[in-house]
Amino acid sequence: MSDSTDHALATPADAEIARLNRRLRRETSARQEAEMIAERGLRDLFQRQQEIVLLETIAASANAAASVEEAMRHALAAVCKFAYWPLGHLLLVDDNAGRTLNSTPIWHDESDGRYDTLRTLTESIAFGRCIGLPGKVCEGSAPAWINAHSHDAGAYPRLPEAQRAGLCSLFAFPVMIDTEVVAVLEFFSMAYQEPDEALLRLMAQIGIQLGRVVERERTREKLMHDALHDPLTRLGNRKLFLDRLQQAQLRARRVPGYQFCVLFVDLDRFKGVNDGLGHQAGDQLIIATANRLSASLRQTDLVSRGAIDQSGGGGDILARMGGDEFTILLDNINSEQVPVRVAERLMSAMADAFVLDGQQVIVTASIGIALNKNGYDDVQDMLRDADIAMYHAKQQGRARWVMFDSAMQEKALRRLQLESELRLAQERDQLWLAYQPVVTPRDGVIRGFEALLRWEHPVYGAAGPAEFIPVAEEIGLISAMGGWILGQACRQLRLWQDESGQPMTMSVNLSAIQLSGNGLVALVAQTLKETGILAGTLKLELTESMVMADPEHALEIFRQLKELNVKLSLDDFGTGYSSLSQLRRLPIHTLKIDRSFVSQMDHHDDKRQIVEVIMMLAHTLGLDVVAEGAETAAEVDLLQAMGVDFVQGYHFFKPMPADAAGAAWREQQPSAQHT
Ligand code: C2E
Ligand code: MG
Ligand code: MG
Repeated sequence: MSDSTDHALATPADAEIARLNRRLRRETSARQEAEMIAERGLRDLFQRQQEIVLLETIAASANAAASVEEAMRHALAAVCKFAYWPLGHLLLVDDNAGRTLNSTPIWHDESDGRYDTLRTLTESIAFGRCIGLPGKVCEGSAPAWINAHSHDAGAYPRLPEAQRAGLCSLFAFPVMIDTEVVAVLEFFSMAYQEPDEALLRLMAQIGIQLGRVVERERTREKLMHDALHDPLTRLGNRKLFLDRLQQAQLRARRVPGYQFCVLFVDLDRFKGVNDGLGHQAGDQLIIATANRLSASLRQTDLVSRGAIDQSGGGGDILARMGGDEFTILLDNINSEQVPVRVAERLMSAMADAFVLDGQQVIVTASIGIALNKNGYDDVQDMLRDADIAMYHAKQQGRARWVMFDSAMQEKALRRLQLESELRLAQERDQLWLAYQPVVTPRDGVIRGFEALLRWEHPVYGAAGPAEFIPVAEEIGLISAMGGWILGQACRQLRLWQDESGQPMTMSVNLSAIQLSGNGLVALVAQTLKETGILAGTLKLELTESMVMADPEHALEIFRQLKELNVKLSLDDFGTGYSSLSQLRRLPIHTLKIDRSFVSQMDHHDDKRQIVEVIMMLAHTLGLDVVAEGAETAAEVDLLQAMGVDFVQGYHFFKPMPADAAGAAWREQQPSAQHT
């Protein structure tokens, strides 16, 4: 019934209107919905765009920033601007203090001092784990936020002050390198707003971007550190030391009365440890030494030197120059006594044995000191002088300190010159051999020669072997030189033997280095073969100390030389230490009595007695004796009376060039034939 009534009321026109109305409503709502969607999309698009701009701004400024601080400042400003936050702040994680946060003075603050109290309060708080919002972020490695009104001030100590300043909420996020939190950025907002997913994602992205800046800075710092430090000991290296020395020098020019000094420390016999116990033990020793030195430097009584930084000084520094060399800069010293006291302390720090590879080893140090009162223009010169002084400490017997003085420099200069000239001497034909005849004292007849090295320098004239042979040994020239000397002397001997038909002998001096090495026997064998001198006419001269340094090694070499029919002489006998029992074991043929006992023996009973004892000893052992340095007839007479077999000295002949030496024996030939 009602159906028919309705049907009756609804005219076709009404129905059409209703239908149109419905359609209109549908279309309107569809349009509104579409507009809403479009607007939301636009808003989102705008938001995305803003976010992209923010990320781009931060990325660009992070790349351009000269420091982490600068990048952080930019980021704080950009985020504040983006989110309409009035206050932003940076906190840095302090690795050394077990992940606490250091509140930095880096803020973005758009107010005129409105937040000053809050800022001061913030900077006074140490944000440990879980303390305050930054602590929470640091602990959780994730962003966090709080509503100032809905949290208690116990866990968040700054909330009351934030509220007082009209701030309603705090938001913070971490700066990350991988999973490590390196900094926290915190922001304060005037309205409470719960961050949405998009904001959180955005801030996480910024955190990663800023983390890259910190990482870049760390890499740079590590490179810088590595460039200035020694990896083994972690001490400063040469570059750092020179840099600090330079700073001290500049300060000395500015500040009247400011003094500093350099100590150059070198271990004694480090090579022995390195060669004997191996490189690892050598490294251990270097590290242990670095520790001992730096520990005893820390004790340096600052009281007696005044506060170290009064003059803006950089403090003392210990550096490793390389190898077993350490240098120390003592900054702002008030007397020359300071480096001396420090040097003494360093030496006593070295006194206890080191335990290396389970072995106890005693290692001493030699120390050179240079003071800046000498007025250096170049700090390298100061370092060089400390080095020279150290060298003198070694020369004086090691395990001591020496203060540099200018006479040392002259000596050092001469030595340097000697070194470089000596390297060229051989190729420039400046080396030659003099020959000093060895004669029988009764008739002065030449029985042989000793070859003595000479260096004729075109500018400096003749340099004596006593001066330059030790240098040649030190700079590693002696082996090559020794080979040349042996060859030259044997070639000369062969000529004279051929001419005279007599088995005259040739004595050649050996260096300790040649004896301690392994090539000597082969060299001698080769030389004998090449020159073809008569068997048993080559004599090699060695000193007692060379033999006693390693008697077993010497013995083995001597045994092999004996097989080659080479004779051995102990040179300068009586001046060195030798053990009689060792002497008996050695296959020695001749003793050469040192010149110091022969010279003026006719005036000194004690000298004569020494020569007598040596004669007895020699004859008991069945050795020949040569007396060196006989200059007068009286000395020769005494020597002959004592039964000395041969004499070598100015009384008969001085050392001379080969042709003069040859002429000398040729001259003797007729008279020798008459007798
Ligand atoms: P040495 O082997 O004891 O040589 C003897 C030194 O005494 C030589 O000095 C010689 O010139 C000097 N002399 C000889 N008779 C007299 C004298 O009557 N009065 C004085 N005042 N001196 C006399 P020289 O040539 O200066 O050599 C010094 C040292 O240098 C040598 O002492 C030797 O140890 C070393 N030497 C010389 N030539 C060589 C060499 O070719 N190789 C090595 N390794 N060392 C050498
Ligand atoms: Mg000699
Ligand atoms: Mg001698």
